[in-house]
Amino acid sequence: MAKPATLQRPIPPADLVDLNSLAMPDRFVPAPDVREWIENAFLYDDAPLHNPDHRHLMDAELGIVWTNSDNVRNMRVVLGQAELMPPMAMGKWARARACQQIEEWFGSMPDFLLTFSAPAAAGMDDASFCALVEHELYHCAQNVDVYGMPKFKNDGTPSFGIRGHDVEEFVGVVARYGASAAGVMPMVEAAQRAPLIGAASIAGVCGTCLRLVA
Ligand SMILES: [Zn+2]
Repeated sequence: MAKPATLQRPIPPADLVDLNSLAMPDRFVPAPDVREWIENAFLYDDAPLHNPDHRHLMDAELGIVWTNSDNVRNMRVVLGQAELMPPMAMGKWARARACQQIEEWFGSMPDFLLTFSAPAAAGMDDASFCALVEHELYHCAQNVDVYGMPKFKNDGTPSFGIRGHDVEEFVGVVARYGASAAGVMPMVEAAQRAPLIGAASIAGVCGTCLRLVA
């Protein structure tokens, strides 16, 4: 597939972002353009922000939706979410109804459903948006076998699963006991190095900076 000459960061639908429409009911809108942008920005071998950690996702169907629905979980605002499909853990009819909705959005059942907050994304700078998208992509993992090797299903396609966060810790614990005792040294070391992704690369997949200099 030919890549577009310039990648433009996908913009959420205006009616999901307009804060004057607070009375608007919760909506979910499929976003095939976001899926295409993710492939071109992160997944293809020659993508400007290519990340080999997501290699298995070239064999995955990603369903993407925007939403205007507020979501607060464990006292934190949820900006994005990755879920393994088909949906589980609900009653028979609720599950069948959800499956029908998702298949009507995407034409078939995707391997993962990624949901992004439209108002939050609209207010993010390019680096923050790319970081949010890659955060959700990192949740979309390929299962491993007992030897730590990538796991495949009987039909030869990857066995997918949701990967948890690398770090689950409180700032207060790190402040009191140190990064080593809290087991977060890899995160601290990564944070102390310069980011691997530079501003110029991000401009290449978002287009904002290109527009500014034009
Ligand atoms: Zn997460």
